[in-house]
Amino acid sequence: MKETSDGKMRAFEFGPFFYPIKRAIWEKLGIMRLEASLFRTALYILRRPFARFGIILCYHDIGPQFLDPFSLRVSSNFFAEQMMVLKNNFIPISLSEMISRSKKKEMTGRHVAVTFDDAYLGVFEFAAPILKKLDIPSTTFVSTNFCSDSGTRFYWDEVGDLLFSFERIPEEISLSFPSKDRSWRLGSEGTLSAKHLERLKIWNVMEPVEFSRQRVFLDIVSLLKTESQKTREKILRQLECEIFKQQSPGKKSDFVSKRRAMSSRELRELAHNRLFEIGGHGLDHLPLACLPPKNLNFEICASKSGLEALINKQVQGFAFPYGGRNDYSEGVAKVVRRAGYKYSVTAGEGVFMERMNPFLIPRLPIRNWNGLQFRKLLDHCFERNQEKFAEVGKFLNHE
Ligand SMILES: [Zn+2]
Repeated sequence: MKETSDGKMRAFEFGPFFYPIKRAIWEKLGIMRLEASLFRTALYILRRPFARFGIILCYHDIGPQFLDPFSLRVSSNFFAEQMMVLKNNFIPISLSEMISRSKKKEMTGRHVAVTFDDAYLGVFEFAAPILKKLDIPSTTFVSTNFCSDSGTRFYWDEVGDLLFSFERIPEEISLSFPSKDRSWRLGSEGTLSAKHLERLKIWNVMEPVEFSRQRVFLDIVSLLKTESQKTREKILRQLECEIFKQQSPGKKSDFVSKRRAMSSRELRELAHNRLFEIGGHGLDHLPLACLPPKNLNFEICASKSGLEALINKQVQGFAFPYGGRNDYSEGVAKVVRRAGYKYSVTAGEGVFMERMNPFLIPRLPIRNWNGLQFRKLLDHCFERNQEKFAEVGKFLNHE
């Protein structure tokens, strides 16, 4: 019932098309006071148990914990704990199987897939024996040009090793980038005590910059991100000359990582074990959203054909290099699909819902957590059907 402007009560009013119909239904059901937002929430809660999903874990390197400003490494002990938890409490499946289950709407269990980006040697040396022992499948995404005979080093690791390994480096560092020359003045901070170097050892880029070396590190890594691997090599050799241009760069710290990508022989060995799927990760590990169309096509298509020739197997999956929201786009995902890949994953934090686009699949980045923390994270995702990792992250931080 509604009072009109002439003061008469009318049982029905034909206003906007849907409104009277909805109103009549609410009146009949006796839930007139239910707000629209509450109604939507109720529907959401009812729907959620049927929102089926799997979780894709995103790892990088496994092995000893040295300098790790980008939180890319999980110690082999913690990785073994995490895999035990996975084996005993969840259903580890390969990423390809997860994709095919999602297409058939068969994601009904606590399915989890393990992935590694960048094909670090640590995956071959430390993770593979654990995965083989527990019979857990995984996918390793490889930037084809890093997979050389001796295994190429990643520029972010090399810059870190050069800048953070010595007590004394020059007070000024100059480098010639293709776009312009750059120089940094470190002044007296060219020399750091062993105590200060120890602080750098546990520094993470999410924390504030304490020494000018950290600022130089961030600048150089960011400038190299968009350069070709060839240019990066040239600039790294320049940086090496700069660091050693003084008579002696001072005492060397004990945490030089010397990390590298797997060599082509190591990658082939891994690829021929049924538990290890290999996926593409571009040629030069470039942020694809920044590339002009011709280069973008080449990066994606040539990385697939080069990788397939290297391992003598078909490559189905792709991981966007860096994987952040600014490093890929829907347009890039379309190029990946046209190149013949069957799916692509981002580094965006989330779970893989059945209804999602298989070329924009989010993952859960895994940090150096022990088995208990890892289990809490996965339990929380599955029990609460959490779609957003941000909520899960908050949960972990409060524990
Ligand atoms: Zn990567």
